[in-house]
Amino acid sequence: MMNHEGRPTAVTPSGDAAGAAPPTFTGNRGLDIEEPLSFEQGRDGVSGVDLEDLPAVEDRLGGLARRAPIGLPGLSEPEVVRHFVRIGRRNYAIDLGPYPLGSCTMKHNPRLNEKLARLPGIADLHPLQPVSTAQGALELMAELGRWLVTLTNMSAVALSPAAGAHGELCGLMCIRAALIARGDARRRVLVPESAHGTNPATAALCGYVVDPVPADATGRIDLAALKAKLGPDVAALMLTNPNTCGLFERDIIAAAEAVHAAGAFFYCDGANFNALVGRVRPGDLGIDAMHINLHKTFSTPHGGGGPGSGPVVLSAALAPFAPVPYVVQDAAGFRLVEEAAATAGEPVGRLKAFHGQMGMFVRALAYMRSHGAEGLRQVAEDAVLAANYLLASVADVMPPAFPGPCMHEALFDDRFLKDTGVTTLDFAKAMIDEGYHPMTMYFPLVVHGALLIEPTESESKDALDRFAATLRFLAERAKAGEAERFLEAPRLTPRRRLDETRAARKPVLRYRPPERPEAAD
Ligand SMILES: *Cc1c(COP(=O)(O)O)cnc(C)c1O
Repeated sequence: MMNHEGRPTAVTPSGDAAGAAPPTFTGNRGLDIEEPLSFEQGRDGVSGVDLEDLPAVEDRLGGLARRAPIGLPGLSEPEVVRHFVRIGRRNYAIDLGPYPLGSCTMKHNPRLNEKLARLPGIADLHPLQPVSTAQGALELMAELGRWLVTLTNMSAVALSPAAGAHGELCGLMCIRAALIARGDARRRVLVPESAHGTNPATAALCGYVVDPVPADATGRIDLAALKAKLGPDVAALMLTNPNTCGLFERDIIAAAEAVHAAGAFFYCDGANFNALVGRVRPGDLGIDAMHINLHKTFSTPHGGGGPGSGPVVLSAALAPFAPVPYVVQDAAGFRLVEEAAATAGEPVGRLKAFHGQMGMFVRALAYMRSHGAEGLRQVAEDAVLAANYLLASVADVMPPAFPGPCMHEALFDDRFLKDTGVTTLDFAKAMIDEGYHPMTMYFPLVVHGALLIEPTESESKDALDRFAATLRFLAERAKAGEAERFLEAPRLTPRRRLDETRAARKPVLRYRPPERPEAAD
């Protein structure tokens, strides 16, 4: 379908740059096969299974029997297999190439982790199985919790949150519970302007008024502005460290002291813990609650590869409010504390069915145990080194948004594209033609036309050199006045530039036959 808004998006299955008729009869491009929707391929009366006719049975559906076909595509088994393998080849994945999305920490998912998660004793566990038959699994959870508490120097951990955003919710609910318990009805949560969108969303969901704190000229929280905003009405500060500009918050201890002096709590967004693990313990910085994205720092798959997992570590002041269930060990072995009444504290309740993403706990612990404490420190060092190597490799053509070295991710603004007619979006699209998933764009919002790149510790120096050479090539092409290359990009993909804004604003989530204008695309 043609988009009617934005830049030209003609479907050219063969990737023909001029948008002319495909040069192949089939629309295929070599072994990249053009694939219609399964609904477009299906035929009536075809099925992948061969079942015997049902015996005659008495209709006991009370008139609720289905009257018409439900419209599933009719395809044979090999057709279904080919369909999904073909569309699966359209996916970009961390196993295909670099995934430089800043803030997302797309690191390699070690195969050892996968092997362990597939052990039958783990993969075949059922959450309702008697606790006496799941002692190993509970011990594994307890050990993961111990690693997280030790690495962060905090008092308690809640393993159940299913993602970073869910961990934020957990942490803020604990903070709210602690305030309510002391009869303190505070209304405001302070969130820096550079924060990930989940931070203000979480605060708002918990009923707080979100109060933005500006950044200073170096991209860090403006301590004076923070202090000016603190007062008896502030429940918490939510701060990301290193922040989303890839910079260490140098004033973090002073910020923590000021927050505590005002009677508020300090929530740290720990999504970037991969830059600090083994080097800095957040508990030493005065943090009261912090989520840890196992799918970022501890290498468990995400972005289509698996569910997230966002355990939250809590300070002694917040530990009594940790949600159930959690694992304890006593003379009889390991068990789950499931009921608030069975605890000494005042749990915020239950955040999720059962106890969390077990498969991710296994993978994260495998990552920790295979690296050891020393290895985890090197993970942080290598992640920071890789980002700085990249920053330095391209700084002459793509000046960084802020001076000086970065932490685990390199941030650029769009000054280098000034007067080229090329935007950050166009630049990102051109990277697709070069075989790279684009970096994070237009985030953080404090930087104009932001390009945020996080190589992680997974990339080799060769891979970083190739990536830097690509950035350099594209930046030079833009400066040389070759805007067309960018405005037409991507030219080599099965579909050209989609109208993402329209797709987000007017999502068409139900399949409609192709003759209707909004269908399919
Ligand atoms: C990824 C991320 C989050 C949210 O984590 P999810 O696991 O995606 O819910 C929050 N803050 C920052 C800085 C992040 O990078």
